[in-house]
Amino acid sequence: MIVCGDAAGQVKPISGGGIYTGAVCAKIAGKVAAEAALEGDSSVFRLSVYDKEWRKVLEKELNIGMKAHNFAAKLADPQWNNLLNSLDNPQLLRLIEEYGDMDHPSILLKKFLNPLNSRHMAGLLKSFVKSVFLSQ
Ligand SMILES: Cc1cc2nc3c(=O)[nH]c(=O)nc-3n(C[C@H](O)[C@H](O)[C@H](O)COP(=O)(O)OP(=O)(O)OC[C@H]3O[C@@H](n4cnc5c(N)ncnc54)[C@H](O)[C@@H]3O)c2cc1C
Repeated sequence: MIVCGDAAGQVKPISGGGIYTGAVCAKIAGKVAAEAALEGDSSVFRLSVYDKEWRKVLEKELNIGMKAHNFAAKLADPQWNNLLNSLDNPQLLRLIEEYGDMDHPSILLKKFLNPLNSRHMAGLLKSFVKSVFLSQ
């Protein structure tokens, strides 16, 4: 059996969105299942290629999202206000417009971590990004 989508936990932890992630994994699942059928080998070992392949594509992004989710879940309202206020900065808004990608949030987080950009961030935003990236 191959499981994809919500049932496999292939959901973006920050938004709960699972359409893109589920579709990416379904495509991999279809390919592996078709190849296995042609080879007449539907063993666990053969189908486990699917598990390795989808993790190669998505696992890092989902893990980063989980860390961001866990961090955000601990914030109190005043901290949220600080965080959102610290984003109201022309340089950061330009980065968000240029690199923001709801399916690959790590791209933008990496830009935030760049020392050239991080000087624009308030302390809370810095600690947010660091806690997501540096604890990997
Ligand atoms: C209100 C809401 C808004 C959302 N907005 C977004 C969004 O903007 N972007 C985004 O990416 N994601 C969004 N999601 C999440 C997204 O809908 C899911 O991640 C995605 O639909 C999961 O797809 P799936 O195929 O894994 O599961 P599902 O779409 O849940 O499909 C599972 C199917 O299996 C069927 N089923 C269940 N049990 C059985 C059974 N025993 N026998 C036969 N069939 C069965 C169900 O009826 C269902 O049709 C949203 C979810 C909700 C609830």
